[in-house]
Amino acid sequence: MLTKAVFFDRDDTLLRDNGYMYKIADFKWIDGAIPALTLLRDAHIPIFIATNQGGIGKGLFTLEQMQAFHNHLRAEALRAGIPITDIAFCPHHPDAVIAEFAAPCDCRKPNPGMLQMLAKKWQIDLSASVMIGDRQTDLEAGTRAGCTSLLLTSETDLPSLVSEAIKIIDTEK
Ligand SMILES: [Zn+2]
Repeated sequence: MLTKAVFFDRDDTLLRDNGYMYKIADFKWIDGAIPALTLLRDAHIPIFIATNQGGIGKGLFTLEQMQAFHNHLRAEALRAGIPITDIAFCPHHPDAVIAEFAAPCDCRKPNPGMLQMLAKKWQIDLSASVMIGDRQTDLEAGTRAGCTSLLLTSETDLPSLVSEAIKIIDTEK
């Protein structure tokens, strides 16, 4: 049986972005992130993150620095009682200076590769799942993966969007 899930963009969706963020000192949830994730935890819906981290390809920070940042993110979520099942990232960038991260890839959003990879790894039913992000590229990645996509704007807040996502997922049961 396949799982239904919610995929989140990371920067400016769950975390306050300060531009190519990798320092643990810069870690900060956006308002409403913990209440929103708690709704999912209570609904037993697994939480995933899919994030473009082209700063790696651009040589601004390393894979190891990003992993340490993600370990901190997951620890902070767990401290609030929320497990994050997995985090997918794309290290590629069109302007990459590191050759191995320069090639065009199918994971950089708006491509759906990260969601497809997570779906395969975790047995997720993409057509019954939801992608939430603050950019059109997030919506496009979600839609191309077959998910319902919800846009976070200044007029919406994350707990409301997550409530909507839970309704969508419950309808699919
Ligand atoms: Zn990529």
